[in-house]
Amino acid sequence: MGAADQLKTPAQYRRGESDLVQRGGKWFLIATCDLPEPEEFEPVDWIGVDRGIVSLATTSDGTNHQGRRLHRYRRWQARKRTELQVKQTRSAIRRLARRSKKEHRHATHLNHRISKEIVSVAQRNGRGLAVEELDAIRDRVRLRRDQRGTLSSWPFHRLGQHLAYKARRAGVPFLEVDATYTSQRCPRCGHTERANRPTRDRFSCRRCGLAGPVDVVAGVNVRHRARSAWVFVTAPVRVPA
Ligand SMILES: [Zn+2]
Repeated sequence: MGAADQLKTPAQYRRGESDLVQRGGKWFLIATCDLPEPEEFEPVDWIGVDRGIVSLATTSDGTNHQGRRLHRYRRWQARKRTELQVKQTRSAIRRLARRSKKEHRHATHLNHRISKEIVSVAQRNGRGLAVEELDAIRDRVRLRRDQRGTLSSWPFHRLGQHLAYKARRAGVPFLEVDATYTSQRCPRCGHTERANRPTRDRFSCRRCGLAGPVDVVAGVNVRHRARSAWVFVTAPVRVPA
């Protein structure tokens, strides 16, 4: 919880003791609060969010949140790790640890900022938020074998957690949808084929010609799935005669 949120937290929700801790030369007051959760509103529509590596989040509205620095850092880190396996000097290890802490803070900051922005847009127009299930991302981004184990620490995993948390706090409905073929399926005609994605970033439907950035297309497909999932959930249950 950031300092600004902390200051806004009404005193009647404080619970127990507050702790004063020092981290990286700064002092923080940590207070535990039980915040009442608002009722989830009935969404008029959904925002689909596509998460990726270079573009951390792209919404079905076409808003794109970049994470280039994080991406560069991940590649740098992978290279350094290989070097370290060769020569394990103490200064090299220290440097790696320092840089890692710094990038971790940067990732947390980005996740906060991006999720806050997306949730506030959803809240403002009375829309729900939908993301793809993490397993699907795992299949789609085709991580190298040595990267797979660390998937849960990848920025987009934590971005999902930030989104879910902030959505709940704002009463915004939140859904995880099946993301199979979200980057190969045409949102206009439904045609699904690997060749609809001629390059990593580009979508171009082989049947109807719809073209655009692949992450926006994926976001729109996530939105479609949320719409149908929601209709399914709220449709009256028919009891067989
Ligand atoms: Zn099409």
